[in-house]
Amino acid sequence: MLSREIVDRVIVLLAAGASINQVTARLHMGRRSVFRIAHGQHSYQRPAVVDESPTVDELPAPAGAYVWCPTCPTRHKVKMPCLACGLRARAEEAKPA
Ligand SMILES: [Zn+2]
Repeated sequence: MLSREIVDRVIVLLAAGASINQVTARLHMGRRSVFRIAHGQHSYQRPAVVDESPTVDELPAPAGAYVWCPTCPTRHKVKMPCLACGLRARAEEAKPA
């Protein structure tokens, strides 16, 4: 794995007009790595993945007696409303059509 410092040096050299071959020779690194950095595809250059899945905090709190959840495939006894079913429903809503 390349250090962030090396990635930054590659970016600076490319911005200064160096070719991929020139950067490869100068920094003693692979063409593929330089190519990926030149095209913004190195892992340091990609935006961080943001987890937008629903959290338990956003759902109504379960209360009352434990009952069999009518829709859970594992059929656990839970307090209603069932958190697992709530999260599953939110995940279905969040799926792109
Ligand atoms: Zn359930």
